[in-house]
This record gives sequence, C-alpha cells and structure tokens, in this order.
Amino acid sequence: MIIQLDSNITGAQLKRLKEKLKEIAYKTTHVSTQYSDYIIGVGKREFDIRAIGTMPGIRDIHRVSDDYKLVSKKWRVEDTAIRLNEDIEIGTGHFTLMAGPCSIESEEQIEKTIAHLARNGVRIMRGGVYKPRSSPYSFRGLGIDGLKLWYEKAHAAGIKIITEVMMVEQIEDMAGYVDIFQVGARNSQNFNLLDALGEVDKPVLLKRGISGTIDELLQAAEYIFSNGNERIMLCERGIRSYETAYRNTMDINAIAMLKEKTHLPVIADPSHGIGLRRFVSPVALAAVMAGADGVILEVHEQPEKAFSDGQQTLSFPEAERLYKRLRQAFELRETF
Ligand code: PEP
Ligand code: MN
Repeated sequence: MIIQLDSNITGAQLKRLKEKLKEIAYKTTHVSTQYSDYIIGVGKREFDIRAIGTMPGIRDIHRVSDDYKLVSKKWRVEDTAIRLNEDIEIGTGHFTLMAGPCSIESEEQIEKTIAHLARNGVRIMRGGVYKPRSSPYSFRGLGIDGLKLWYEKAHAAGIKIITEVMMVEQIEDMAGYVDIFQVGARNSQNFNLLDALGEVDKPVLLKRGISGTIDELLQAAEYIFSNGNERIMLCERGIRSYETAYRNTMDINAIAMLKEKTHLPVIADPSHGIGLRRFVSPVALAAVMAGADGVILEVHEQPEKAFSDGQQTLSFPEAERLYKRLRQAFELRETF
C-alpha cells in the first residue's frame, strides 16, 4: 500500500495514521522525496481502504501488492517526466537522444564530440570516466580530472552530461560535475550505491543487470525512489543469453513491458544491447517502436581507435543518419 501524505499533515494526524496501520499489522516505512512524503505499508490483512483514505492529512491511497511500489504504474498511472532544465525534458512525449563515446579519452575527443552533437541537436552527451572493464589491464577511464574538463566544455556548449558512478565514495566528488548519474549493468543491484543515489537530487539512469530480470530492475529503482530520489529512468542494455552470435541479447520485449509496469521513462541502449556496429541502427529503431522514450548511443570520430567498445560504436556520419531516422520513427510512433 502507498499512502501519499498531504504536505501540511500534522504530527498528531501522522501518529494516528501509523497507529491505525499498526492495528491492521502493516509494517510501515516513511519515504520522503524531493517532491512528496509517502507511507509504504506492507502487510497481509484485508482491510477497507476507505477507512484509511478518509483520515485527515492523506492525499491519496493505493493498493500495490508488488515488491516494487513507488515506481509502479498501478499507483501513478500517468508517465513521469524528468526535467533537466527549462527546455530538456525526458519522457511523456519528448524523445531523448544521448550520445558520446564509451570512454572519455582526451580534450580533443571531447571537443570533436561536442561539435558533432551540437550540429545534430543532441543535448545530452554520454561518456565514462570510471570504466568497469572485464579485464583490469584495459583502459579504466580518466577519473575526476577528465570529468571536470568534460563538464566545463559540455556546459559551455549547452550540453548536459551523463556518466557512470561506480562507488558510493565517488558520488560526492562527482555530483558537482554530473547532470545524470548512470548506474551500470554490473552495479544494477549494488544496493548501497542505489541507497546513496536516493539521497542525491540528480537524475539517475539505472541500467538493467547483465542477468537481471525486469522485476529486479524495478526493485532496484525502488531502492533509489524510496531513499528520496524520484528522478529515475530505466535502461534496457541487453542481457546475457545462450546466444553467442552477438555480445548481448537486446530485450526489446522488456521495453514494451516496462512501459506497462512503470511510470518512469525507459531508455534503450542498442550499442551494448547487440554490441555490433552494423546492427545498432535497426535495433535502435526497433526499440523506439517498442515504446522507448529515448536512446543512448556510443559514437566516436574514429570508432576503430576508441579506447573501449569500438566494435559497437558508430562513426559520426553513421550516427547522424541514425538520429534522423530515430526522430522520424518516434514521430511515427506517436501517431499510432
Ligand atoms: C557503458 O555505458 O559504457 C557501460 C559500461 O554500460 P553497461 O553498464 O551497460 O555495460
Ligand atoms: Mn561501453
């Protein structure tokens, strides 16, 4: 059960509500986010929802029996939008493109990528400065100094940035230089990290775990929301399956299903989703048709020279063609 509280609920009213929930043996958690306060009740007993809903100080009450609640569409039936500034909004009829290299490599690469994005009206640049690499001998990113340089240049060009945070300890240092925190597939169930990101008022893009189910992804998002941060988007980036012909299996089904289960925006990552450059475009287009609110792409001036993930990275001309097609596909979908 989710009970949304009135912003002017009194201490006595709240106390009475908690007593009432105790009477019906419901365990309660008080959630306080940047937008509202909620009481989450978990219990088994049947009760008349009106008996609680009509108590003073309550704005709304909903029965949600899934393990995830606040991220569920059963409660918030309208999709949620995430606003980055006056003119960048993610979700609810806005189509979002995010693009950039797998790893931030150099000042020159940052400048060239920004120029490419600006030419194409892409307002959010992706890139990793802390890279989770399968081998410890691979390039692991430029770290905080690379982030500061990148942030400064991107912001001067009016471009927002999204980058992966790998550890709780990095959040504080990074927060001043990040517009969207990315939680990578390998950290999708790092509950300490999710808890900590719940305390930050910055949007979070949460990727699905490599072997994560849809339910696990939604529960991971619930960690962030229930710790105070409602600004979450989910990302399908391919899962591990028995198929070895490509790097991952992009689960297009998940996009359609997530749009049914949650009010949060859903972003598709076809670069990691299939892991092969020549198939990124068709998979990206399919993801839009399945309902994605946006697409995140790996692009590089010279993909063959990229420090990481070059095999799935689009060249600038390839990316330009795809941006156009994706925008067309989105417009078409919106007419359905
Ligand atoms: C990335 O975005 O470059 C990345 C490492 O993604 P994932 O966590 O999905 O593997
Ligand atoms: Mn990558």
